[in-house]
Amino acid sequence: MTFDNYNDFVWSDGKLNSTSITITRTKKHKPHPSDDELRFGSSFTDHMFCMDYNESNGWHDPRIVPYQPLILDPATAVLHYAQSVFDGLKVYRCQDGIIRFFRATKHAERLNRSCKYLCIPTIDSEMIIQSFHALVSIDQTWIPSKRGTALYLRPTVIASEAFLGVHSAKTYTYFLILSPVGSYYEEGISPVKIMATDTYVRAVKGGLGAAKTAANYAASIFASEDAKKFGCNQVLWLDGIEHRYLDEIGTMNVMMKIKDEIITPPLNGAILDGVTRDSILTLCRDLGIKVSERRISIEEVMTAAHSGALNEMWGTGTAVVVLSIGELRYKNDKVIINGGKPGAFMQKLYDMIVSIQYGDIKDCHNWMSVLQTLK
Ligand SMILES: *Cc1c(COP(=O)(O)O)cnc(C)c1O
Repeated sequence: MTFDNYNDFVWSDGKLNSTSITITRTKKHKPHPSDDELRFGSSFTDHMFCMDYNESNGWHDPRIVPYQPLILDPATAVLHYAQSVFDGLKVYRCQDGIIRFFRATKHAERLNRSCKYLCIPTIDSEMIIQSFHALVSIDQTWIPSKRGTALYLRPTVIASEAFLGVHSAKTYTYFLILSPVGSYYEEGISPVKIMATDTYVRAVKGGLGAAKTAANYAASIFASEDAKKFGCNQVLWLDGIEHRYLDEIGTMNVMMKIKDEIITPPLNGAILDGVTRDSILTLCRDLGIKVSERRISIEEVMTAAHSGALNEMWGTGTAVVVLSIGELRYKNDKVIINGGKPGAFMQKLYDMIVSIQYGDIKDCHNWMSVLQTLK
């Protein structure tokens, strides 16, 4: 399929000046990595999508250009004050050869919620989704096909105004880049060691915890380096006020199975509303399993672990789907969960999600959407 203009796309947002995406094709195609050598986020496709915002034109000039560095004035606001948001989702080459996104609308809506937290002008959700379709269409040969692989989409919005005063910027850039990614579980699900911290805080209620924003990641680096010194892979974040209640693990939502109940912290303003979290809770409810979105303290978790009631614990996120937790440390206490092996229930959830993503089982909730290409 070849086309030079995406004229068929007309944004529903009246504020947009242009009704078509301008496409400038690359003259130098990069070599594709083989499906076996794919890692997470280290190679990028041939093109990128960009769009700008200013007060008089709103979001304008949607375009696809060859993948290239951004040119930014050293005074650009995002570099100093982190006014930026992003999201992350995947598109799959399914068993039947059809290309499908997983929950694209939910990711687009979350990008806009993140924008609101950072005072960034929102983008018509339809426009975000069309940027996904347009760019993936152009670079669709980059979608790997081996099971477990996918094309990862990273939509990002940054404050592009060159001004050193702290305020909500007057200009912004939206860009979308694509990265073919491998399976996190080349050799099967291997559990990680985590350390609960009562010293460091990722986010607090009233802060930016519910936004997918660079600042939260910057705030997490010191603690995760500290955890590595103790031989742990990730930090289990506790709430920022009492340092008692579980928030998240690393950059994932956290869940556990205590007896026959699935427990996960509620969306309290300090936690990101994960799409994988929502998908897994939905599947648990479909299976008729008791799900509790409630506060759970680290003491309750440690007590349940010592008594044998804590059967399984895992993290959830787009990159991994589920991340099994085999060991948990808190202060001088250490517990091994499920003998340090991935739990059967967690494995079942993983298999269900992956089977929906590759089209092996019925997509009862209409989570998958077919890639639109030009007629
Ligand atoms: C992205 C992210 C998650 C996981 O969200 P998904 O939509 O499942 O990928 C969880 N916590 C944080 C802090 C995140 O940034």
